[in-house]
Amino acid sequence: MAKIRIYQLAKELGMTNEELLELLDQMGVAYKSHASTLSEEDAEAVRELVKEQRGLQEKLAEEERRKALPRRPPVVVIMGHVDHGKTTLLDYLRKSRIAEKEAGGITQHVGAFEVKTPQGTVVFIDTPGHEAFTTIRQRGAKVADIAVIVIAADDGIMPQTDEAIAHAKAAGAKIVFALNKMDLPQADPDRVKRQLMERGFVPEEYGGDAIVVPISAKTGQGVQDLLEMILLIAELEDYRADPNAEPKGVILESKLDKQAGIIANMLVQEGTFRVGDYVVAGEVYGRIRAMMDADGNQRKETGPGSAVQVLGFQELPHAGDVVEWVPDLEAAKEITEERKEERKAREEAEKERRPRTMADLLRTLQEEGQKEVNLILRADTQGSLEAIQHILAKESTEEVKINVLLAQVGAPTESDVLLAQTANAAILAFGVNPSGAVKKAAENKGVLLKTFRIIYDLIDEVRAMVKGQKEPIYKEEILGRAEVRAIFRLPGGKQVAGCMVTQGKVVRSAEVRVLRKGEEIWKGKMASLKRFKEDVREVAQGYECGIGLEGFDDFQEGDIIEAFQMVEVPA
Ligand code: GDP
Repeated sequence: MAKIRIYQLAKELGMTNEELLELLDQMGVAYKSHASTLSEEDAEAVRELVKEQRGLQEKLAEEERRKALPRRPPVVVIMGHVDHGKTTLLDYLRKSRIAEKEAGGITQHVGAFEVKTPQGTVVFIDTPGHEAFTTIRQRGAKVADIAVIVIAADDGIMPQTDEAIAHAKAAGAKIVFALNKMDLPQADPDRVKRQLMERGFVPEEYGGDAIVVPISAKTGQGVQDLLEMILLIAELEDYRADPNAEPKGVILESKLDKQAGIIANMLVQEGTFRVGDYVVAGEVYGRIRAMMDADGNQRKETGPGSAVQVLGFQELPHAGDVVEWVPDLEAAKEITEERKEERKAREEAEKERRPRTMADLLRTLQEEGQKEVNLILRADTQGSLEAIQHILAKESTEEVKINVLLAQVGAPTESDVLLAQTANAAILAFGVNPSGAVKKAAENKGVLLKTFRIIYDLIDEVRAMVKGQKEPIYKEEILGRAEVRAIFRLPGGKQVAGCMVTQGKVVRSAEVRVLRKGEEIWKGKMASLKRFKEDVREVAQGYECGIGLEGFDDFQEGDIIEAFQMVEVPA
């Protein structure tokens, strides 16, 4: 790069000469005038500094803009193992909310409800469990900011608790652990805390940052603390949304009502939806005919953090579909048409790729010449299967593809073992145990069958497999050297070098290079290795031998023939 004059650099950076001179002063760079040249390093340092300052300014401006937006309530989902009290907790929260209203107020199911406390409002998604959460997430929407993971203190962490944790983590939601059923004499919160610590969640009381709140969803004990913790997180995270941005929401649920037609429950995430707006949700569109909030009030408009029933969709939208505002019917139709076609094209492509028989499968594996890790997944629930696949999808790379051949709920079967054997796949089971017969079958057939109790252990196993599949790295290992002492010419121009092995050994099957004055002048294979006219496999240090090379006949006395082999470096 040529040297640059100060005025040139100022122009490049869109600054005045004065501004740049001032910056150079600050940096302590000497100059005579704006016509002085700068060294390359100085010019580069200026560029860096200006870039940094501008980035910082932008960030500050962005933060400033955000701070000017109104706050929005945190959106919370309740997850956990079956029977640990999710529904009871939701009921308690819902009731406490209704109690605030005048008696007789009609409440409407809109997919989420608000709990108002003196410290602020919390929005709870009305469906417990992570199935809903997963389907919503699979469509790309992020719904919940915070996940309350309910753990019955008398039962402790169970498989679905781990799944719930995995889901919440994967979604980037903040986690609050609610130790439920504290009213029971068998409640053992310390045991649950130990279990949490085993998973890397150290409760605050032990110096960690995992939030653990003991509650009883039945008596309501501790529920207020839970709400306070949620609001504290909300304050720290500083959730805000722009009511004037382009409206955006997410479908929580939808159903077909005999009288009202299609009813979609929507959580508004940004902007303000108004009656009469055209909207699209995934592949369906509509015009908002009416909106109703949880208190049964008709709403003309509704902003961030609110959940409403929406009438006016032409077809049923799916849970998790993102609702977007569009300017008119034409746009609505075009966008949804486009999406339908894109999906069809994707499905076609999928069908093409999906092998129909085992033979097809094997053929495609070989043809593609791509490195593969083939898996059969077994898990206790559909939810965990989906969670595992979701995470695995991200581990698949261009270099090594992860192929899930079969993903099913329930324990591995002998037919899985057969499939695994034919397809050269591994069987990974989560939360389910294979029978003795299946284990034996796997052993006999040399099929890898492993069971896991923690999703992340399973994922780690797959990572290890992926790593093992990567192109191995080789390094050279020198076996020995021989010095050329005499050159013999054979009829036909071939040469044989009379050598002395000076170091290590020379091996017939090894690769060799010819070094002259320390530089490699040729590399290849040996054509012959002889001792006294006898073909030999190797010759050790201190012995003489004759070496012929494949395609090299320009020996000079003093050349070094180096024998080496490539060895795999363990990953
Ligand atoms: P879910 O499957 O997680 O939704 O669990 P439920 O809310 O249906 O609760 C399962 C059972 O535990 C029910 O019989 C509840 O009455 C009971 N339960 C829930 N919370 C508590 C609690 O705090 N204390 C006691 N003693 N029982 C509870």
